[in-house]
Amino acid sequence: MNNDRNEKLNVEEIFGKNVFTISKMRAALPKSVYKNVRKVMEQGGELSRADADVVAKAMKDWAVENGATHYTHWFQPLTGITAEKHDSFISSPDEEGRMLMGFSGKDLIKGEPDASSFPSGGLRSTFEARGYTTWDITSPAFLKESGTGTTLCIPTAFCSYTGEALDKKTPLLRSMEAINAQALRIVRLFGDTAATRVRASVGAEQEYFLVNRDKYLQRQDLIFTGRTLFGAPAPKGQEMEDHYFGVIREHVGEFMRDLNLELWKLGVPAKTQHNEVAPAQHELAPIYEEANVATDHNQLIMETMKRVAIHHNMRCLLHEKPFAGVNGSGKHNNWSLSTDTGENLLDPGKNPESNTRFLLILACILKAVDIHADLLRQSASDVGNDERLGGHEAPPAIVSVFLGEQLEDVVSQVVKKGMADRHLEGGVLYTGVSTLPDVAKDATDRNRTSPFAFTGNKFEFRMVGSADSCGAPITIINAIVAEAFCEAANRLEKAADFDQAVQDLIHEYLTNHQRIIFSGNGYTEEWILEAKRRGLPNIASTIEAASALTTPKSVSLFEEFHIFTEAELRSREEITYETYAKTINIETLTMIDMARKQIIPVCMRYAKDLAETVILLRDAGMDPMAEVEKLTEVSTMINQAQHSLKMLIDAEENAGKITHMKEQAFYYKDIVKPLMNNLRRPCDELEKLVDKKMWPFPTYEDLMFEI
Ligand code: ADP
Ligand code: MG
Repeated sequence: MNNDRNEKLNVEEIFGKNVFTISKMRAALPKSVYKNVRKVMEQGGELSRADADVVAKAMKDWAVENGATHYTHWFQPLTGITAEKHDSFISSPDEEGRMLMGFSGKDLIKGEPDASSFPSGGLRSTFEARGYTTWDITSPAFLKESGTGTTLCIPTAFCSYTGEALDKKTPLLRSMEAINAQALRIVRLFGDTAATRVRASVGAEQEYFLVNRDKYLQRQDLIFTGRTLFGAPAPKGQEMEDHYFGVIREHVGEFMRDLNLELWKLGVPAKTQHNEVAPAQHELAPIYEEANVATDHNQLIMETMKRVAIHHNMRCLLHEKPFAGVNGSGKHNNWSLSTDTGENLLDPGKNPESNTRFLLILACILKAVDIHADLLRQSASDVGNDERLGGHEAPPAIVSVFLGEQLEDVVSQVVKKGMADRHLEGGVLYTGVSTLPDVAKDATDRNRTSPFAFTGNKFEFRMVGSADSCGAPITIINAIVAEAFCEAANRLEKAADFDQAVQDLIHEYLTNHQRIIFSGNGYTEEWILEAKRRGLPNIASTIEAASALTTPKSVSLFEEFHIFTEAELRSREEITYETYAKTINIETLTMIDMARKQIIPVCMRYAKDLAETVILLRDAGMDPMAEVEKLTEVSTMINQAQHSLKMLIDAEENAGKITHMKEQAFYYKDIVKPLMNNLRRPCDELEKLVDKKMWPFPTYEDLMFEI
């Protein structure tokens, strides 16, 4: 950690310092081996064992030179976080007791972590515990500096003995291949023979909260669940909107500086930072990269945020809803497609109405989102995000697309007339001040409430939760769009009159799927009714969304493009139920503990003080009116809390008896969660009534305003 704040940062020198970059590889490898590596990176295929040995040695030499003692296959199991098992480079000493640091091509390419303790949703039983990690050659290896020293991290995919994906990376890579193949067909239809690859790019804006570490450590709910389970609102929330883009507090600024530095070393192009809407909420956005690298980098961003926060005596909260009543945190996944010849396929250009390729691509995306709205919703679901989606300040749980005025107008022309022949201009923004320049205005304003918004030359999927990996949502977007491209290409490749066929197809898709377009305020009650009228799914929770994975339409989509097998989909559905039940169970136990051992005892003590005061005042011949009134209020709430606590304890016990995973998950959602709210309510009331000095843990005010 860098503590000298005045030291000049040489960003160009720092950037990628801890990454085994392509340029380092080029310098370290014999030409022929380097060429083979690049070929596999770009075109796929496998590196020969001999080449892998050479790469491994170069990688190890570089790592050791930079202080590494260990290496790890770094992977993303279905727990949602990354996993690593460190091995040191040492091999058995020679006869003279000398140690040689070893790392072979085999070590690089393949690892065998015991897979039995990772979620598999029934794909493996414990006696068939073998799992393999395999090197993702397209994501660079890097050095991680942490408490354990310096470790060489090799990004890998994680599969079972029988080849089923046990992680978020493998399906993502498969989906990238699918979108590449199908998008190329579209590009070819328009006579482009130069492009040889289409890449999905992702830029993930990451929201987070920072709280004081000492205060964090006084709250079991934050420690065990990452969010507050109790807490009355502070007198001030976000209503003044003075935090958004506000001046960054000094020590938060110091955190951000260190965070950037650590990320740059890791080759993560951290670019933008600002305060977010809620007090203590912030955002970091990197420059976009190819989907798998962006996904790896987002994991590194989350890990590094947590690590750096601790060095600044803070804790970083990545939970989607750490505090009730103020904004939650999301992760906006910006997604686009571009060819290796440098063209962004989502760029409408100056005249979108006559950009047939763009209109075709847009029509395919709208169709994909409409048909698979349930899958998209599922891909953005996790237990924490349930607290956020559909709240009044988060994207609604209904998937819809915002196109903006200009494109919406083009779409409606096509729907009406079969084609479009004009576009709305952006015009000029007149500032009305002679010394300020008048600036060119985009043709389209923004809509912050849309879950899937077109923003100029990319789509922004805003539903995704802050703690979640980009892996699943991007896999789904790639997959559903690949399917739509494939269907379009199947028709158009056979067409006798291509120009007519493509016009017809665009018209047909836009007409049939225009119901998915919505540009109004997504936070309103009217939209919920309107969406219902349009027949758009409104899926309230993670566990209701999970079955979208295994519908016949989903299975056929994923099997066709070799992204998931049916067994893999079933396992993921199963894991969702399991994770949900476990998470709510932990939250329940934490609430029970806090209410039983902290809140209720403190309130009883306070009631006792009041009762004693009442008696003393009466003895002194006074009429303790205020004291009696307060005592009554406090006692009533304690009774309510105690009663709700008992109900919650019973429900938790009952939940434990349910052996069927899905049933148990729904029991937690339908029975246990409302009881959690019932317990929270009187406890939050008590917080407002009881002497602040007695309250057993830091309040919202302490956490959000005094970090
Ligand atoms: P906005 O203000 O519209 O959110 P920004 O330029 O701030 O746009 O970008 C937000 C995120 O989107 C950043 O992470 C950025 O790198 C990413 N981004 C920008 N252009 C693209 C693109 N063509 N494809 C994918 N992501 C992109
Ligand atoms: Mg954005």
